[in-house]
Amino acid sequence: MADSLPSHIQLEIVTPDHPVAREVVSAVTIPGKGGYLGILPGHAPLLSELKMGELAYTRGSFTHYLAVSWGFAEVLPDRVIILAKTAERAADINVERAERARQRAEERLAKFTDLSIDMERARAALERAQTRLQVARRVGS
Ligand code: ATP
Repeated sequence: MADSLPSHIQLEIVTPDHPVAREVVSAVTIPGKGGYLGILPGHAPLLSELKMGELAYTRGSFTHYLAVSWGFAEVLPDRVIILAKTAERAADINVERAERARQRAEERLAKFTDLSIDMERARAALERAQTRLQVARRVGS
């Protein structure tokens, strides 16, 4: 007889600076490189690269949101491990800082004729800032 499916997921989110979350959850949405991945208990094992994006997890009746940047996700039927370069909970995002970062990046991108500017780097900074601003709007929602 097949083993019964796990009822929950042990979620761990770690950055090089510190552990960000270790919680038992019922669902996780991961910003995978190839698109968002919805994970429920019993999901088939997979390994995915992360892109900058919003990670969401549901615990009880609450969904929690974080902005995460590049790294890896390991998915097992009863466990999800996120190793991210950065991860901020929605409530911890400094909106003014993200707004300043967005403006800086947009100004750099506007000078597209200036060959001294690394456009790829400016685009990545803009993506980080936009994601942080988007995730920060989740506070209280
Ligand atoms: P900035 O130009 O404002 O530093 P950045 O996108 O270059 O933004 P990162 O290199 O991605 O910043 O992150 C550096 C550190 O600062 C990480 O620990 C990250 O979690 C944190 N961080 C960056 N922006 C914010 C923010 N708006 N609110 C809270 N923490 C932030």
